[in-house]
Amino acid sequence: MRTRRMLRVGLALLLVLASVLPAARGQTTEPTRFTVQELAPGVFAVLDREGRAGANAGFVIGADAVAVIDSFFHEDAARELLAHIRTQTARPIRYLINTHHHIDHVAGNAVFVKAGAQLVAHARVADWQRSENLRLLGPRLTPALRERIGQLPEPQLLVQAAMSLDLGGGRQLLLRHWPGHTGGDLVVQVSDAPVRFLGDLLWQAAIPNLVDAMPAAWRATLASLAAESSPALWYVPGHGAPARAQALLDLADYLAALEQAVREAGADAERAVAQLKPRFGHWAFFRGLAPANVRDQQAELEGRKRVPGDPGPTSP
Ligand SMILES: [Zn+2]
Ligand SMILES: [Zn+2]
Repeated sequence: MRTRRMLRVGLALLLVLASVLPAARGQTTEPTRFTVQELAPGVFAVLDREGRAGANAGFVIGADAVAVIDSFFHEDAARELLAHIRTQTARPIRYLINTHHHIDHVAGNAVFVKAGAQLVAHARVADWQRSENLRLLGPRLTPALRERIGQLPEPQLLVQAAMSLDLGGGRQLLLRHWPGHTGGDLVVQVSDAPVRFLGDLLWQAAIPNLVDAMPAAWRATLASLAAESSPALWYVPGHGAPARAQALLDLADYLAALEQAVREAGADAERAVAQLKPRFGHWAFFRGLAPANVRDQQAELEGRKRVPGDPGPTSP
């Protein structure tokens, strides 16, 4: 009797497992490297989860097609994003837009190009995605990364000042070039939703990377973008959480404080960093990037700031 009851219990357990397992398999498409936030119908911010994607991205679904914005530092994250988009829509991914050439935003490009997307970027990205990423990585460049950079697909649609992409149903993406972070940055604006993807022109509560930047031009860009803002607008940064226009002003404030600290501290870089710490020490990447920001700002004030495309002693 006991054996029969055990068999019955065992059978019941098997049935329960059988009903649960397909659902568990379905959950394997749940992203692990990022979170997804729908900011407006069909407009999604894709947010780096503790460095596991390497940067933010996004995607926009139109009546006819989908556009993806940026493809992370980790190619696995790009594959996860492709799988996630497929849980939302079967429409073709017609475009992959790169906000700029930095490797943490373009390393997964091939995943979407192989899926049929046309690669869209500022005209300068075509050259810079190789030469400038090798320089950017410096001592962090491994043979594997060098190979990945060498194999990055070529952009097919090149943007000079602006371009409009049609996703169907009256939904367009307006791509505009703004100077500041690299000299090859695009802002992606959704025609029928209050969302703009800024790439690394915006870092939210995070110290920006200035290695390829023109800080004075960047402040002017942030002021112009803030001037055309409205309370309903969402800005998706390259790093950090989606934010309102105040985040643009906060980053401009940081860049102004950086310039002031460097002017006051002269050659004493540690003093300049210490001067920034009370206001900005709680921002992400402060320890890692603030000292480099001081060096870059010193170079700009002395008229020797290298930007992409310049020949320089450290260029490969
Ligand atoms: Zn960048
Ligand atoms: Zn970035």
